[in-house]
Amino acid sequence: MCGIIGYAGSDSDAIDVLLDGLSGLEYRGYDSAGVALSNQTLHVHKREGELSALESALPKSEYENESVGIGHTRWSTHGPPSDVNAHPHTDDQNRVAVVHNGIIENYQSLRDELTAAGIEFESDTDTEVVPHLISTYLADGIDRETAFRRAIDRIEGSYAVAAVFEGTNTIYAARRNSPLVLGIGNDGYYLASDVPAFIEYTDRVIYLDDGEFARLSPSEVVVTDADGTVVETSIETISWDPEDAGKSGYDHYMLKEINEQPDALRKCLRGRLDELEGTVDLESVPPIQASGAIQFVACGTSYHAAMYGARLLRDRGVSAQAFLASEYDEETIPVGGESVVVGVTQSGETADTMRALRAANRAGAKTIAVTNVVGSSAARECDHVLYIRAGPEIGVAATKTFASQQAALTMLACQLTENISRETIQALRDVPDLIQTVLDTSNARAVAETYEDADAYFFIGRGYQYPVALEGALKMKEITYKHAEGFAAGELKHGPLALVTENTPVFALVTGDDERANKTIGNVKEVEARDAPVVAVTDGRSEVERYADHVLEVPGAGGIASPIVANVQLQLVSYWVANRLGRSIDKPRNLAKSVTVE
Ligand code: GLU
Repeated sequence: MCGIIGYAGSDSDAIDVLLDGLSGLEYRGYDSAGVALSNQTLHVHKREGELSALESALPKSEYENESVGIGHTRWSTHGPPSDVNAHPHTDDQNRVAVVHNGIIENYQSLRDELTAAGIEFESDTDTEVVPHLISTYLADGIDRETAFRRAIDRIEGSYAVAAVFEGTNTIYAARRNSPLVLGIGNDGYYLASDVPAFIEYTDRVIYLDDGEFARLSPSEVVVTDADGTVVETSIETISWDPEDAGKSGYDHYMLKEINEQPDALRKCLRGRLDELEGTVDLESVPPIQASGAIQFVACGTSYHAAMYGARLLRDRGVSAQAFLASEYDEETIPVGGESVVVGVTQSGETADTMRALRAANRAGAKTIAVTNVVGSSAARECDHVLYIRAGPEIGVAATKTFASQQAALTMLACQLTENISRETIQALRDVPDLIQTVLDTSNARAVAETYEDADAYFFIGRGYQYPVALEGALKMKEITYKHAEGFAAGELKHGPLALVTENTPVFALVTGDDERANKTIGNVKEVEARDAPVVAVTDGRSEVERYADHVLEVPGAGGIASPIVANVQLQLVSYWVANRLGRSIDKPRNLAKSVTVE
Protein backbone atom coordinates (compact mmCIF):
# COMPACT_ATOMS: atom_id res chain seq x y z
CA MET A 1 0.00 0.00 0.00
CA CYS A 2 2.69 2.45 0.90
CA GLY A 3 6.26 2.82 -0.10
CA ILE A 4 9.41 0.90 -0.90
CA ILE A 5 12.85 2.31 -1.66
CA GLY A 6 15.98 0.35 -2.45
CA TYR A 7 19.51 1.40 -3.38
CA ALA A 8 22.53 -0.54 -4.52
CA GLY A 9 25.33 1.91 -5.17
CA SER A 10 29.02 2.37 -5.37
CA ASP A 11 29.01 5.39 -3.05
CA SER A 12 28.73 4.70 0.63
CA ASP A 13 25.71 6.89 1.15
CA ALA A 14 22.95 4.32 1.16
CA ILE A 15 21.47 5.54 4.42
CA ASP A 16 20.96 9.07 3.02
CA VAL A 17 19.46 7.74 -0.20
CA LEU A 18 17.05 5.55 1.77
CA LEU A 19 15.94 8.33 4.10
CA ASP A 20 15.51 10.76 1.19
CA GLY A 21 13.57 8.08 -0.61
CA LEU A 22 11.27 7.46 2.31
CA SER A 23 10.58 11.14 2.65
CA GLY A 24 9.82 11.26 -1.10
CA LEU A 25 7.22 8.56 -0.46
CA GLU A 26 5.65 10.15 2.61
CA TYR A 27 2.85 11.63 0.53
CA ARG A 28 1.43 8.13 0.08
CA GLY A 29 0.49 8.09 3.75
CA TYR A 30 2.06 5.69 6.27
CA ASP A 31 2.02 4.71 9.91
CA SER A 32 5.57 3.40 10.41
CA ALA A 33 8.88 3.24 8.62
CA GLY A 34 12.06 1.21 8.55
CA VAL A 35 15.34 0.46 6.77
CA ALA A 36 17.71 -2.48 6.37
CA LEU A 37 21.33 -2.03 5.39
CA SER A 38 23.14 -5.04 4.11
CA ASN A 39 26.65 -6.05 3.47
CA GLN A 40 28.51 -8.38 5.74
CA THR A 41 25.78 -8.28 8.35
CA LEU A 42 22.22 -7.04 8.23
CA HIS A 43 21.21 -3.96 10.22
CA VAL A 44 17.51 -3.31 10.62
CA HIS A 45 15.90 -0.25 12.21
CA LYS A 46 12.19 0.44 12.28
CA ARG A 47 9.79 2.66 14.15
CA GLU A 48 6.10 3.29 14.42
CA GLY A 49 5.07 6.84 13.56
CA GLU A 50 6.65 9.56 11.47
CA LEU A 51 9.93 9.26 9.65
CA SER A 52 11.52 11.55 12.22
CA ALA A 53 11.01 8.78 14.83
CA LEU A 54 13.03 6.41 12.68
CA GLU A 55 15.70 9.01 11.99
CA SER A 56 16.23 9.72 15.66
CA ALA A 57 16.53 6.00 16.38
CA LEU A 58 19.17 5.49 13.68
CA PRO A 59 22.86 5.49 14.66
CA LYS A 60 23.65 7.04 11.27
CA SER A 61 27.36 7.41 11.91
CA GLU A 62 27.69 3.64 12.18
CA TYR A 63 26.46 3.22 8.62
CA GLU A 64 28.72 5.62 6.81
CA ASN A 65 30.29 2.82 4.84
CA GLU A 66 27.13 1.12 3.72
CA SER A 67 26.16 1.27 0.07
CA VAL A 68 23.22 -1.14 -0.20
CA GLY A 69 19.86 -1.15 1.54
CA ILE A 70 16.08 -1.11 1.42
CA GLY A 71 13.49 1.05 3.18
CA HIS A 72 9.75 0.98 3.71
CA THR A 73 6.82 3.09 4.78
CA ARG A 74 3.97 0.94 6.03
CA TRP A 75 0.22 1.46 5.95
CA SER A 76 -0.98 -1.42 8.07
CA THR A 77 -3.28 -4.06 6.76
CA HIS A 78 -2.32 -6.99 9.04
CA GLY A 79 -1.60 -6.06 12.61
CA PRO A 80 -1.71 -2.57 14.09
CA PRO A 81 1.00 0.04 13.54
CA SER A 82 3.88 -0.77 15.93
CA ASP A 83 7.66 -1.02 15.95
CA VAL A 84 7.49 -4.80 15.68
CA ASN A 85 4.98 -4.81 12.82
CA ALA A 86 6.94 -2.16 10.90
CA HIS A 87 9.04 -3.42 7.98
CA PRO A 88 11.68 -4.72 7.21
CA HIS A 89 10.97 -8.19 8.59
CA THR A 90 13.73 -10.72 9.05
CA ASP A 91 14.10 -14.46 9.54
CA ASP A 92 15.12 -15.80 12.96
CA GLN A 93 18.80 -15.94 12.01
CA ASN A 94 18.91 -12.43 10.60
CA ARG A 95 20.05 -13.65 7.20
CA VAL A 96 17.45 -11.87 5.11
CA ALA A 97 15.38 -8.68 5.50
CA VAL A 98 12.19 -8.12 3.52
CA VAL A 99 9.93 -5.16 2.79
CA HIS A 100 6.52 -5.60 1.23
CA ASN A 101 3.65 -3.48 -0.02
CA GLY A 102 0.28 -5.13 -0.46
CA ILE A 103 -1.48 -8.13 1.04
CA ILE A 104 -0.46 -11.78 1.08
CA GLU A 105 -3.80 -13.53 0.88
CA ASN A 106 -2.58 -17.05 1.76
CA TYR A 107 -0.35 -15.89 4.63
CA GLN A 108 -2.30 -17.78 7.30
CA SER A 109 -1.74 -21.21 5.77
CA LEU A 110 1.94 -20.38 5.17
CA ARG A 111 2.26 -19.15 8.73
CA ASP A 112 0.67 -22.37 10.05
CA GLU A 113 3.06 -24.44 7.95
CA LEU A 114 6.12 -22.50 9.14
CA THR A 115 4.96 -22.52 12.75
CA ALA A 116 4.50 -26.30 12.56
CA ALA A 117 8.11 -26.48 11.38
CA GLY A 118 9.18 -24.74 14.61
CA ILE A 119 9.52 -21.15 13.40
CA GLU A 120 8.47 -18.43 15.80
CA PHE A 121 6.85 -15.33 14.42
CA GLU A 122 7.51 -11.92 15.93
CA SER A 123 4.93 -9.76 14.22
CA ASP A 124 1.25 -9.89 13.27
CA THR A 125 1.96 -9.11 9.64
CA ASP A 126 1.28 -11.19 6.59
CA THR A 127 4.70 -10.09 5.33
CA GLU A 128 6.74 -12.00 7.89
CA VAL A 129 6.07 -15.32 6.14
CA VAL A 130 8.36 -14.17 3.32
CA PRO A 131 11.70 -13.95 5.18
CA HIS A 132 10.94 -17.23 6.97
CA LEU A 133 10.13 -18.99 3.71
CA ILE A 134 13.34 -17.67 2.15
CA SER A 135 15.30 -18.76 5.20
CA THR A 136 13.97 -22.34 5.07
CA TYR A 137 15.05 -22.58 1.43
CA LEU A 138 18.49 -21.20 2.30
CA ALA A 139 18.75 -23.83 5.03
CA ASP A 140 18.13 -26.46 2.34
CA GLY A 141 21.24 -25.22 0.57
CA ILE A 142 19.41 -23.28 -2.11
CA ASP A 143 21.11 -20.11 -3.39
CA ARG A 144 19.73 -16.71 -2.45
CA GLU A 145 18.09 -15.79 -5.73
CA THR A 146 16.36 -19.14 -6.12
CA ALA A 147 15.26 -19.03 -2.49
CA PHE A 148 13.76 -15.58 -3.08
CA ARG A 149 11.97 -16.71 -6.26
CA ARG A 150 10.61 -19.83 -4.58
CA ALA A 151 9.21 -17.80 -1.70
CA ILE A 152 7.55 -15.40 -4.15
CA ASP A 153 6.09 -18.40 -6.01
CA ARG A 154 4.42 -19.51 -2.81
CA ILE A 155 2.65 -16.26 -2.01
CA GLU A 156 -0.72 -15.20 -3.39
CA GLY A 157 -2.24 -11.74 -3.40
CA SER A 158 -0.79 -8.35 -4.19
CA TYR A 159 2.79 -7.51 -3.55
CA ALA A 160 5.81 -5.45 -4.29
CA VAL A 161 8.60 -7.17 -2.37
CA ALA A 162 12.28 -6.36 -1.93
CA ALA A 163 14.85 -8.38 0.01
CA VAL A 164 18.47 -7.94 1.08
CA PHE A 165 20.73 -10.65 2.47
CA GLU A 166 23.69 -10.69 4.80
CA GLY A 167 27.00 -11.10 3.07
CA THR A 168 25.99 -9.68 -0.31
CA ASN A 169 25.37 -6.34 -1.92
CA THR A 170 22.45 -7.47 -4.06
CA ILE A 171 18.76 -6.54 -3.75
CA TYR A 172 16.11 -8.94 -5.04
CA ALA A 173 12.64 -7.66 -5.91
CA ALA A 174 9.36 -8.82 -7.42
CA ARG A 175 5.94 -7.37 -8.06
CA ARG A 176 2.35 -8.40 -8.63
CA ASN A 177 -0.51 -5.91 -8.54
CA SER A 178 1.59 -3.38 -6.67
CA PRO A 179 3.89 -0.89 -8.39
CA LEU A 180 7.69 -1.03 -8.56
CA VAL A 181 9.98 1.11 -10.67
CA LEU A 182 13.75 0.90 -11.13
CA GLY A 183 15.97 3.98 -11.33
CA ILE A 184 19.19 3.98 -13.35
CA GLY A 185 21.72 6.32 -11.75
CA ASN A 186 25.33 7.14 -12.55
CA ASP A 187 26.63 5.56 -9.41
CA GLY A 188 24.09 2.91 -8.64
CA TYR A 189 20.60 1.55 -9.06
CA TYR A 190 17.36 2.44 -7.32
CA LEU A 191 14.13 0.66 -6.69
CA ALA A 192 10.91 2.29 -5.51
CA SER A 193 7.15 2.16 -5.54
CA ASP A 194 7.08 5.56 -7.18
CA VAL A 195 9.46 7.92 -8.94
CA PRO A 196 9.49 10.80 -6.37
CA ALA A 197 11.45 8.46 -4.09
CA PHE A 198 14.58 8.81 -6.22
CA ILE A 199 13.86 11.63 -8.70
CA GLU A 200 16.51 13.81 -7.07
CA TYR A 201 19.11 11.18 -7.99
CA THR A 202 17.98 10.06 -11.42
CA ASP A 203 15.24 10.61 -13.98
CA ARG A 204 15.93 7.40 -15.95
CA VAL A 205 13.53 4.63 -15.07
CA ILE A 206 12.41 1.12 -15.97
CA TYR A 207 8.88 0.12 -14.99
CA LEU A 208 8.64 -3.44 -13.76
CA ASP A 209 5.69 -5.41 -15.12
CA ASP A 210 3.47 -7.65 -13.07
CA GLY A 211 5.12 -11.02 -12.51
CA GLU A 212 8.64 -9.72 -13.13
CA PHE A 213 11.69 -9.97 -10.88
CA ALA A 214 14.64 -7.62 -10.57
CA ARG A 215 18.17 -8.07 -9.24
CA LEU A 216 20.10 -4.91 -8.38
CA SER A 217 23.75 -4.66 -7.44
CA PRO A 218 26.09 -1.66 -7.61
CA SER A 219 27.25 -2.82 -11.05
CA GLU A 220 24.09 -3.98 -12.79
CA VAL A 221 20.35 -4.32 -12.80
CA VAL A 222 18.74 -7.39 -14.35
CA VAL A 223 15.02 -7.93 -14.94
CA THR A 224 13.71 -11.46 -15.40
CA ASP A 225 10.33 -13.06 -15.92
CA ALA A 226 8.73 -15.76 -13.79
CA ASP A 227 10.86 -18.45 -15.50
CA GLY A 228 14.09 -16.59 -14.87
CA THR A 229 14.51 -15.55 -18.50
CA VAL A 230 16.08 -12.13 -18.85
CA VAL A 231 13.55 -9.55 -20.05
CA GLU A 232 14.55 -6.78 -22.43
CA THR A 233 13.63 -3.53 -20.77
CA SER A 234 13.40 0.00 -22.04
CA ILE A 235 14.60 3.00 -20.11
CA GLU A 236 12.20 5.93 -19.98
CA THR A 237 13.16 9.45 -19.02
CA ILE A 238 10.87 11.19 -16.57
CA SER A 239 10.24 14.78 -17.49
CA TRP A 240 9.61 16.05 -13.95
CA ASP A 241 12.16 18.30 -12.30
CA PRO A 242 13.13 17.29 -8.78
CA GLU A 243 11.70 20.72 -7.97
CA ASP A 244 8.30 19.50 -9.17
CA ALA A 245 8.23 17.00 -6.38
CA GLY A 246 8.86 19.66 -3.71
CA LYS A 247 6.58 22.36 -2.32
CA SER A 248 8.08 25.26 -4.30
CA GLY A 249 7.52 27.76 -1.53
CA TYR A 250 3.88 26.94 -0.78
CA ASP A 251 2.91 25.99 2.74
CA HIS A 252 1.31 22.81 1.53
CA TYR A 253 1.52 20.54 -1.47
CA MET A 254 -2.22 20.88 -1.79
CA LEU A 255 -2.08 24.64 -2.28
CA LYS A 256 0.81 24.23 -4.70
CA GLU A 257 -1.16 21.67 -6.64
CA ILE A 258 -4.30 23.83 -6.71
CA ASN A 259 -2.13 26.57 -8.18
CA GLU A 260 -0.58 24.20 -10.70
CA GLN A 261 -3.93 23.51 -12.33
CA PRO A 262 -3.62 25.96 -15.24
CA ASP A 263 -0.30 24.40 -16.16
CA ALA A 264 -1.47 20.84 -15.61
CA LEU A 265 -4.47 21.46 -17.85
CA ARG A 266 -2.35 22.97 -20.59
CA LYS A 267 -0.24 19.82 -20.53
CA CYS A 268 -3.36 17.69 -20.62
CA LEU A 269 -4.74 19.52 -23.66
CA ARG A 270 -1.46 20.04 -25.51
CA GLY A 271 -1.36 18.54 -28.99
CA ARG A 272 -4.79 17.02 -28.60
CA LEU A 273 -7.08 19.80 -29.86
CA ASP A 274 -7.21 21.17 -33.39
CA GLU A 275 -9.18 24.39 -33.57
CA LEU A 276 -8.90 24.80 -37.32
CA GLU A 277 -10.14 21.33 -38.10
CA GLY A 278 -12.47 21.28 -35.11
CA THR A 279 -11.11 17.89 -34.02
CA VAL A 280 -9.79 16.12 -30.96
CA ASP A 281 -6.89 13.74 -31.40
CA LEU A 282 -6.17 11.35 -28.58
CA GLU A 283 -3.43 9.43 -30.30
CA SER A 284 -3.66 6.59 -27.78
CA VAL A 285 -7.39 6.02 -28.05
CA PRO A 286 -8.59 5.11 -31.53
CA PRO A 287 -12.22 5.89 -32.38
CA ILE A 288 -14.12 3.04 -30.77
CA GLN A 289 -17.60 2.18 -31.92
CA ALA A 290 -19.43 1.39 -28.71
CA SER A 291 -22.70 -0.05 -29.85
CA GLY A 292 -23.28 -1.27 -26.31
CA ALA A 293 -23.06 0.86 -23.20
CA ILE A 294 -20.10 2.88 -22.01
CA GLN A 295 -19.45 2.32 -18.33
CA PHE A 296 -17.11 4.17 -16.03
CA VAL A 297 -15.58 2.60 -12.91
CA ALA A 298 -13.81 4.69 -10.30
CA CYS A 299 -13.54 5.56 -6.59
CA GLY A 300 -13.55 8.78 -4.57
CA THR A 301 -12.69 11.94 -6.47
CA SER A 302 -12.13 9.95 -9.66
CA TYR A 303 -15.71 8.71 -9.35
CA HIS A 304 -16.92 12.30 -9.41
CA ALA A 305 -14.90 12.86 -12.59
CA ALA A 306 -16.40 9.65 -13.97
CA MET A 307 -19.94 10.93 -13.26
CA TYR A 308 -19.06 14.05 -15.19
CA GLY A 309 -17.68 11.95 -18.08
CA ALA A 310 -20.77 9.75 -18.18
CA ARG A 311 -23.05 12.77 -18.36
CA LEU A 312 -21.01 14.22 -21.23
CA LEU A 313 -21.59 11.01 -23.16
CA ARG A 314 -25.28 10.84 -22.32
CA ASP A 315 -25.65 14.40 -23.58
CA ARG A 316 -24.10 13.17 -26.83
CA GLY A 317 -26.69 10.45 -27.19
CA VAL A 318 -24.66 7.53 -25.84
CA SER A 319 -25.88 5.31 -23.04
CA ALA A 320 -23.26 5.84 -20.32
CA GLN A 321 -23.15 5.34 -16.59
CA ALA A 322 -20.61 5.78 -13.80
CA PHE A 323 -20.18 3.03 -11.18
CA LEU A 324 -18.36 3.02 -7.91
CA ALA A 325 -15.69 0.43 -8.64
CA SER A 326 -16.28 -1.31 -5.32
CA GLU A 327 -19.94 -1.83 -6.25
CA TYR A 328 -19.21 -3.03 -9.76
CA ASP A 329 -19.76 -6.76 -9.99
CA GLU A 330 -20.19 -9.52 -12.50
CA GLU A 331 -23.83 -8.58 -13.16
CA THR A 332 -22.89 -5.05 -14.14
CA ILE A 333 -20.33 -6.14 -16.70
CA PRO A 334 -21.46 -5.81 -20.29
CA VAL A 335 -21.06 -8.91 -22.46
CA GLY A 336 -19.52 -8.94 -25.89
CA GLY A 337 -16.81 -6.85 -27.45
CA GLU A 338 -18.88 -3.79 -28.21
CA SER A 339 -19.06 -2.26 -24.80
CA VAL A 340 -16.47 0.07 -23.38
CA VAL A 341 -15.41 0.25 -19.74
CA VAL A 342 -13.41 3.31 -18.72
CA GLY A 343 -11.41 3.08 -15.48
CA VAL A 344 -10.64 6.47 -13.97
CA THR A 345 -7.83 6.23 -11.40
CA GLN A 346 -5.21 8.89 -10.82
CA SER A 347 -2.63 6.45 -9.47
CA GLY A 348 -3.53 3.68 -11.91
CA GLU A 349 -3.22 1.28 -8.98
CA THR A 350 -6.54 1.73 -7.12
CA ALA A 351 -7.41 -1.83 -6.12
CA ASP A 352 -11.19 -1.56 -6.51
CA THR A 353 -10.88 0.02 -9.92
CA MET A 354 -8.28 -2.54 -11.04
CA ARG A 355 -10.54 -5.39 -9.96
CA ALA A 356 -13.45 -3.92 -11.93
CA LEU A 357 -11.26 -3.34 -15.00
CA ARG A 358 -9.90 -6.87 -14.89
CA ALA A 359 -13.42 -8.24 -14.71
CA ALA A 360 -14.37 -6.07 -17.69
CA ASN A 361 -11.35 -7.34 -19.60
CA ARG A 362 -12.35 -10.93 -18.89
CA ALA A 363 -15.88 -10.22 -20.07
CA GLY A 364 -14.51 -9.04 -23.41
CA ALA A 365 -15.26 -5.34 -23.08
CA LYS A 366 -12.85 -2.80 -24.50
CA THR A 367 -11.15 -1.11 -21.58
CA ILE A 368 -9.68 2.37 -21.37
CA ALA A 369 -7.58 3.64 -18.48
CA VAL A 370 -7.72 7.34 -17.67
CA THR A 371 -4.77 7.80 -15.34
CA ASN A 372 -1.95 10.08 -14.29
CA VAL A 373 0.73 7.46 -13.86
CA VAL A 374 2.72 6.25 -16.83
CA GLY A 375 3.34 2.54 -16.65
CA SER A 376 0.80 1.99 -13.87
CA SER A 377 -1.19 -1.23 -13.65
CA ALA A 378 -4.27 0.39 -15.19
CA ALA A 379 -2.18 1.74 -18.04
CA ARG A 380 -0.71 -1.67 -18.77
CA GLU A 381 -3.76 -3.79 -18.39
CA CYS A 382 -6.31 -1.78 -20.35
CA ASP A 383 -6.65 -1.91 -24.13
CA HIS A 384 -6.08 1.82 -24.35
CA VAL A 385 -4.78 4.48 -22.03
CA LEU A 386 -5.43 8.18 -21.84
CA TYR A 387 -2.88 9.94 -19.65
CA ILE A 388 -4.17 13.01 -17.90
CA ARG A 389 -0.62 14.45 -17.63
CA ALA A 390 -1.21 16.27 -14.34
CA GLY A 391 2.34 15.60 -13.04
CA PRO A 392 3.04 14.24 -9.56
CA GLU A 393 0.36 14.96 -7.00
CA ILE A 394 1.69 14.69 -3.49
CA GLY A 395 -1.20 16.03 -1.41
CA VAL A 396 -3.40 13.12 -0.44
CA ALA A 397 -6.56 15.06 -1.34
CA ALA A 398 -6.79 15.09 -5.14
CA THR A 399 -7.01 18.52 -6.74
CA LYS A 400 -5.19 18.99 -10.02
CA THR A 401 -5.78 15.40 -11.02
CA PHE A 402 -9.54 16.00 -10.77
CA ALA A 403 -9.38 19.02 -13.09
CA SER A 404 -7.19 17.09 -15.52
CA GLN A 405 -9.53 14.10 -15.37
CA GLN A 406 -12.47 16.38 -16.20
CA ALA A 407 -10.60 17.84 -19.18
CA ALA A 408 -9.38 14.44 -20.37
CA LEU A 409 -12.86 12.94 -20.09
CA THR A 410 -14.30 15.84 -22.07
CA MET A 411 -11.86 15.09 -24.88
CA LEU A 412 -12.58 11.38 -24.57
CA ALA A 413 -16.34 11.97 -24.86
CA CYS A 414 -15.73 14.04 -27.99
CA GLN A 415 -13.48 11.43 -29.53
CA LEU A 416 -15.64 8.42 -28.68
CA THR A 417 -18.76 10.02 -30.11
CA GLU A 418 -16.98 11.93 -32.89
CA ASN A 419 -19.11 14.79 -31.68
CA ILE A 420 -17.02 17.89 -31.25
CA SER A 421 -17.72 21.51 -31.93
CA ARG A 422 -15.36 24.45 -32.27
CA GLU A 423 -17.20 25.86 -29.29
CA THR A 424 -16.17 22.91 -27.11
CA ILE A 425 -12.56 23.15 -28.26
CA GLN A 426 -12.50 26.85 -27.49
CA ALA A 427 -14.13 26.27 -24.09
CA LEU A 428 -11.48 23.68 -23.20
CA ARG A 429 -8.70 25.96 -24.41
CA ASP A 430 -10.00 28.74 -22.17
CA VAL A 431 -10.10 26.65 -18.98
CA PRO A 432 -6.44 27.18 -17.89
CA ASP A 433 -6.74 30.98 -18.12
CA LEU A 434 -10.11 31.00 -16.39
CA ILE A 435 -8.68 28.95 -13.51
CA GLN A 436 -5.78 31.39 -13.34
CA THR A 437 -8.33 34.20 -12.96
CA VAL A 438 -9.96 32.32 -10.08
CA LEU A 439 -6.57 31.78 -8.43
CA ASP A 440 -5.70 35.46 -8.80
CA THR A 441 -9.01 36.92 -7.65
CA SER A 442 -10.80 34.39 -5.44
CA ASN A 443 -12.34 35.52 -2.17
CA ALA A 444 -12.55 31.90 -1.00
CA ARG A 445 -10.24 32.64 1.91
CA ALA A 446 -12.60 35.29 3.32
CA VAL A 447 -15.57 32.96 2.85
CA ALA A 448 -13.66 30.17 4.62
CA GLU A 449 -12.84 32.46 7.52
CA THR A 450 -16.49 33.49 7.85
CA TYR A 451 -17.64 29.89 8.09
CA GLU A 452 -14.71 28.11 9.75
CA ASP A 453 -16.87 27.33 12.79
CA ALA A 454 -19.86 26.02 10.87
CA ASP A 455 -21.53 22.83 12.14
CA ALA A 456 -21.57 21.37 8.64
CA TYR A 457 -21.17 22.37 5.00
CA PHE A 458 -23.60 21.50 2.25
CA PHE A 459 -23.02 21.67 -1.49
CA ILE A 460 -25.76 21.56 -4.10
CA GLY A 461 -25.73 21.44 -7.88
CA ARG A 462 -27.58 19.99 -10.85
CA GLY A 463 -26.43 18.39 -14.07
CA TYR A 464 -22.70 18.90 -14.59
CA GLN A 465 -22.51 20.75 -11.30
CA TYR A 466 -23.83 17.76 -9.32
CA PRO A 467 -20.50 15.85 -9.38
CA VAL A 468 -18.78 19.12 -8.49
CA ALA A 469 -21.08 19.47 -5.45
CA LEU A 470 -20.09 15.94 -4.39
CA GLU A 471 -16.42 16.70 -4.94
CA GLY A 472 -16.66 19.97 -3.01
CA ALA A 473 -18.06 18.09 -0.02
CA LEU A 474 -15.51 15.27 -0.27
CA LYS A 475 -12.63 17.76 -0.27
CA MET A 476 -14.10 19.52 2.76
CA LYS A 477 -14.45 16.22 4.67
CA GLU A 478 -11.02 14.96 3.73
CA ILE A 479 -8.99 17.91 4.88
CA THR A 480 -11.09 19.69 7.53
CA TYR A 481 -12.54 16.56 9.23
CA LYS A 482 -15.84 18.42 9.37
CA HIS A 483 -19.20 17.18 8.28
CA ALA A 484 -19.87 18.04 4.67
CA GLU A 485 -22.36 16.63 2.16
CA GLY A 486 -23.00 17.17 -1.50
CA PHE A 487 -26.50 16.76 -2.90
CA ALA A 488 -28.24 16.88 -6.20
CA ALA A 489 -30.03 20.17 -5.66
CA GLY A 490 -33.39 18.57 -6.40
CA GLU A 491 -32.89 16.07 -3.59
CA LEU A 492 -32.62 18.73 -0.94
CA LYS A 493 -36.28 18.77 -0.03
CA HIS A 494 -36.44 14.98 -0.03
CA GLY A 495 -34.56 14.80 3.25
CA PRO A 496 -31.35 16.80 3.62
CA LEU A 497 -33.28 20.05 4.15
CA ALA A 498 -33.94 18.80 7.69
CA LEU A 499 -30.23 19.30 8.42
CA VAL A 500 -30.13 22.92 7.33
CA THR A 501 -29.73 25.55 10.06
CA GLU A 502 -28.27 29.03 10.41
CA ASN A 503 -24.96 27.33 11.14
CA THR A 504 -24.74 25.18 8.01
CA PRO A 505 -23.63 27.22 4.99
CA VAL A 506 -24.97 25.94 1.69
CA PHE A 507 -22.71 26.30 -1.34
CA ALA A 508 -24.94 26.51 -4.41
CA LEU A 509 -23.33 25.86 -7.79
CA VAL A 510 -25.33 27.83 -10.32
CA THR A 511 -23.90 28.51 -13.76
CA GLY A 512 -25.74 29.54 -16.89
CA ASP A 513 -29.31 30.74 -16.91
CA ASP A 514 -31.23 27.72 -18.04
CA GLU A 515 -33.94 25.64 -16.46
CA ARG A 516 -31.46 23.80 -14.26
CA ALA A 517 -30.04 27.06 -12.95
CA ASN A 518 -33.50 28.40 -12.23
CA LYS A 519 -34.53 25.25 -10.41
CA THR A 520 -31.41 25.40 -8.27
CA ILE A 521 -32.26 29.00 -7.44
CA GLY A 522 -35.58 27.63 -6.20
CA ASN A 523 -33.64 25.36 -3.85
CA VAL A 524 -31.50 28.28 -2.73
CA LYS A 525 -34.66 30.12 -1.72
CA GLU A 526 -35.71 27.08 0.30
CA VAL A 527 -32.52 27.08 2.35
CA GLU A 528 -32.52 30.85 2.68
CA ALA A 529 -36.01 30.64 4.18
CA ARG A 530 -34.50 28.34 6.86
CA ASP A 531 -31.87 30.98 7.70
CA ALA A 532 -28.95 29.01 6.28
CA PRO A 533 -26.19 31.19 4.84
CA VAL A 534 -25.88 30.77 1.07
CA VAL A 535 -22.63 30.95 -0.87
CA ALA A 536 -23.36 31.17 -4.59
CA VAL A 537 -20.70 29.75 -6.85
CA THR A 538 -21.80 31.39 -10.05
CA ASP A 539 -20.94 32.95 -13.37
CA GLY A 540 -23.41 35.75 -12.70
CA ARG A 541 -25.73 34.80 -15.54
CA SER A 542 -28.65 34.01 -13.28
CA GLU A 543 -30.27 35.82 -10.39
CA VAL A 544 -28.77 33.60 -7.72
CA GLU A 545 -26.58 36.39 -6.34
CA ARG A 546 -29.73 38.15 -5.10
CA TYR A 547 -30.30 35.34 -2.62
CA ALA A 548 -26.68 34.76 -1.61
CA ASP A 549 -24.70 35.96 1.41
CA HIS A 550 -21.45 35.49 -0.48
CA VAL A 551 -20.49 34.98 -4.09
CA LEU A 552 -17.60 32.96 -5.45
CA GLU A 553 -17.20 33.92 -9.06
CA VAL A 554 -16.87 31.47 -11.93
CA PRO A 555 -15.44 33.51 -14.81
CA GLY A 556 -15.88 32.58 -18.44
CA ALA A 557 -18.37 31.88 -21.11
CA GLY A 558 -20.08 29.04 -19.27
CA GLY A 559 -20.76 25.69 -20.90
CA ILE A 560 -18.31 22.85 -20.58
CA ALA A 561 -15.68 24.92 -18.75
CA SER A 562 -17.84 26.00 -15.81
CA PRO A 563 -17.78 22.79 -13.75
CA ILE A 564 -13.99 22.59 -14.01
CA VAL A 565 -13.53 26.24 -13.04
CA ALA A 566 -16.20 26.26 -10.31
CA ASN A 567 -14.55 23.35 -8.54
CA VAL A 568 -11.39 25.39 -8.00
CA GLN A 569 -13.33 27.84 -5.83
CA LEU A 570 -14.49 24.94 -3.67
CA GLN A 571 -10.96 23.52 -3.40
CA LEU A 572 -9.80 26.89 -2.11
CA VAL A 573 -12.61 27.16 0.46
CA SER A 574 -11.76 23.69 1.85
CA TYR A 575 -8.07 24.48 1.88
CA TRP A 576 -8.54 27.71 3.84
CA VAL A 577 -11.00 26.20 6.33
CA ALA A 578 -8.52 23.34 6.97
CA ASN A 579 -5.69 25.85 7.23
CA ARG A 580 -7.59 27.92 9.83
CA LEU A 581 -8.33 24.76 11.78
CA GLY A 582 -4.66 23.74 11.69
CA ARG A 583 -5.31 20.38 10.02
CA SER A 584 -2.69 18.10 8.53
CA ILE A 585 -3.67 19.22 5.04
CA ASP A 586 -1.31 17.18 2.90
CA LYS A 587 -1.69 14.02 4.93
CA PRO A 588 -5.16 13.95 6.42
CA ARG A 589 -5.63 11.46 9.21
CA ASN A 590 -6.58 7.90 8.22
CA LEU A 591 -6.18 8.53 4.50
CA ALA A 592 -3.64 7.32 1.98
CA LYS A 593 -2.93 8.61 -1.51
CA SER A 594 -2.96 5.43 -3.46
CA VAL A 595 -5.53 2.94 -2.21
CA THR A 596 -4.16 -0.38 -3.36
CA VAL A 597 -6.25 -2.65 -1.15
CA GLU A 598 -9.97 -3.35 -1.65
N1 GLU B 1 0.35 -6.15 4.53
C1 GLU B 1 1.57 -5.59 5.01
C2 GLU B 1 1.44 -5.17 6.47
O1 GLU B 1 0.38 -5.08 7.01
C3 GLU B 1 2.09 -4.44 4.16
C4 GLU B 1 1.27 -3.19 4.24
C5 GLU B 1 1.81 -2.10 3.31
O2 GLU B 1 1.59 -2.21 2.09
O3 GLU B 1 2.42 -1.15 3.78
O4 GLU B 1 2.41 -4.95 7.11
